[in-house]
Amino acid sequence: MPVNIGFIGLGIMGKPMSKNLLKAGHRLVVYDIVPERVEEVVSAGAEAGASSKDVAARSEVIITMLPDGPDVEKAVLGEGGVLEGARAGSVVIDMSSINPLVAQKVGRACAEKGVEFLDAPVSGGEPKAIEGTLAIMVGGRPEVFEKMKPILECMGASVTLTGDVGAGNVTKLANQIIVACNIAAMGEALVLAAKAGLDPETVFHAIKGGLAGSTVLNAKAPMVYSRNFQPGFRIELHQKDLRNTLQAADSLRVPLPLTSLVQQELVALINEGKGGLDHSAIVQFTEEAAGIEVRKKGEA
Ligand code: NAD
Repeated sequence: MPVNIGFIGLGIMGKPMSKNLLKAGHRLVVYDIVPERVEEVVSAGAEAGASSKDVAARSEVIITMLPDGPDVEKAVLGEGGVLEGARAGSVVIDMSSINPLVAQKVGRACAEKGVEFLDAPVSGGEPKAIEGTLAIMVGGRPEVFEKMKPILECMGASVTLTGDVGAGNVTKLANQIIVACNIAAMGEALVLAAKAGLDPETVFHAIKGGLAGSTVLNAKAPMVYSRNFQPGFRIELHQKDLRNTLQAADSLRVPLPLTSLVQQELVALINEGKGGLDHSAIVQFTEEAAGIEVRKKGEA
């Protein structure tokens, strides 16, 4: 059954995710503060919304895919935002990666207006957003989850309810710890191999089938030795995720020494103007310290 869906935030992730909803036959009204991004999804078959409020007024389900918690608060709770337009009984699904406490705040504000809310952040990056095979981790009421699952399945290969509102983002923070520490460890390994005079591409092929093999290694090692740091997932967004992780860990009194270390590396890279690079560029922190670049042999 086609559903009237509003989609707000048409960046690296939101654009392909909204296009997959169109492909599945749903009717879409879309909005982004950057007009060119709206035009592109409109040319794929969506209607243009004038604001978040307008999108909500024309939709039964409203999806947000924005950078961080303050953006979600602005788009949902702010002036001209979703809650000014949404009808009681409609459902807001925030798929951004944000602080779980902000997700709970937005969820409470929705409940006061009779609007249902799920937090449903994703993992898999741009390639899986394009394929419609994201991993989607959801927090909210089971009845609402079951109703929304077919819509989420248009964008994801796995859709899992992990608990109440906020649980989706706690799961996402756990995911981001593993990804960040993995990339940093991979960077150290490749720098060591390069400084010892080995070809990093050969080293990658030698180890990828063993215990060090991972989705991170397969996706990111070739980017590093080919010097392709086009995002993907930007360093500044991963720094935001680790900041949210450390805030949550602080309130739960959980020490996260590895995560803190990688967070500091990300801050240093942002200060060098590298926040817009793909997070595989975490390797550059170790490269600078070691005085060598990881490049496949035969490349200057
Ligand atoms: P992005 O910066 O490319 O896209 C965000 C979009 O939101 C932009 O087009 C921006 O113009 C728009 N926007 C910002 N404020 C707005 C507002 N108030 N109203 C309407 N539009 C607004 O970011 P992205 O890479 O698409 O990431 C989105 C979210 O998904 C982030 O929370 C990120 O951490 C998460 N995420 C990203 C990836 C990835 O690989 N890029 C993977 C998993 C999760």
